[in-house]
Order: sequence, then structure tokens, then C-alpha cells
Amino acid sequence: MTITKKHIISIFFILIIAIGTISVVSAYAGTGFTHDIPFSKYRDKSVSDILNNYEDTECHVEESAICTQVVDGDTIYLDNGDKVRFVGVNTPERGVEGYIASKNFVQKLCLNKKVGLDIDNAKNKDKYGRILAVVIVDGKSVNEMLLKEGLAEIMYIPPSEFYPFDWANNSTHIPESYNTYAHTQKDTSSNSDNSGNYIGNSNSGKFHKSTCKWGQKTAEHNRIYFKDRNLAVSQGYKPCKVCNP
Ligand SMILES: [Zn+2]
Repeated sequence: MTITKKHIISIFFILIIAIGTISVVSAYAGTGFTHDIPFSKYRDKSVSDILNNYEDTECHVEESAICTQVVDGDTIYLDNGDKVRFVGVNTPERGVEGYIASKNFVQKLCLNKKVGLDIDNAKNKDKYGRILAVVIVDGKSVNEMLLKEGLAEIMYIPPSEFYPFDWANNSTHIPESYNTYAHTQKDTSSNSDNSGNYIGNSNSGKFHKSTCKWGQKTAEHNRIYFKDRNLAVSQGYKPCKVCNP
């Protein structure tokens, strides 16, 4: 009996360690994300057709180099030897539906061209040694375009300088786990703020429920409080995709 119990306890601990290891390794790895956007969607579009749909990014080019290889929709190699993982996003892995569409989109925008990087100051590299960055082409963020086109899902792994929810629109896939997290936050801190029911971020143009952790992370000098939702909307603020105010 004792031996059996010991074995069960050992197996239990091995499982915990294994699960822990898998979850750490899965950071910036595949999640099984797919989409059904046909790769032909962008075939006849020119680069400027695509770029013209987007505003210039607020991200800054910190370094630039020529893109020599597009590995998939969220990883590229540069002629200076750097490997770059697009921060804040995740595209379908090889062999999964949507892989080619996302990869082709990035090839069209980046391959054999000079691209700029805004490297994540909070975390420069992932555990595979790839630089975590916003990739900038002609002043536009490719990370943001991937999300807005529906070619990538949000992958937010703090700490990060960037908040990819700000790059989302109605076409963006936001994994279920982020919503669950936001709701959990809401239930545990419902009376944490009474200076306004909503927190606006004058920098991002988004507004949050006062209970949203992302609202609470807004820097003091960027905060605007709203008593009601309509007020925020009427001033041009867009609802946060996580707390859905
Ligand atoms: Zn929010």
C-alpha cells in the first residue's frame, strides 16, 4: 500500500512538472489557431492597396534590415542574422488551415524589403532567441494588420511594452482565455474605483470598465473617467475588446 501511494505521489509531481514545462515552452508557440481566409484574397492586391487601408503606427523604428525569409505569418529572418517573432500576435502553424494565407500576406509586405523593428522593451526575446518586435513597413505595423485582417489571433504574454488589444477590430480573433480572465477580474474588484464607471485611455483611444485590469493599468496622465458609456463613445473612444464596456 505504501509503495503504491508513493508511486501515485511521484507520478502526480512528475505530471505537475511536465504540465509546467509544457506551458512555459508554449509561450510564443502554436496554439492551434486557424482561420479560413483564402490565400487568393491578397493575390491580386498590390502592397499599396493593403497599406492604404491602415493608419501609420505609433510604434517607432528602432532598427531596420532586409527581410530575407518569411518562416510563417509571425516569424521572419533578416539579413543581419536576426530572427524576429512578431510580438502580440499568433498566426496558424505549418500544416494548419490559414497558414499559407497568413504567410503569403507577410511575404507580400516584407520579403526582400527593408523592414523596421520596434523591439519590445519589456522583453527583447522569446525563449527561442527570436527578437520580439512590432514589424513596420512604410510606417505601418504589420502586427496590427495581421490582427485587423483576421490573419492572426491576439497572443498577449506579459511583460510586454505592447498591448495588442489596441490593434484589434471586429475581425480579430481574441482567444477565449483573455475574456475569462477579464470576467474574473471584474468579479473580484467590483467596488475598486468610484471616480467613474469607465476609464478612457487618451493615448490608445480605448475605454474600459473601471474594473478591467487593462483599464487599471492605464497611466495616470492618460486617464479620463466617464460616468456613462455613451459619453465615452460620443467622445470617440472605442470599447476595450477584453472587458466589453
Ligand atoms: Zn478593458
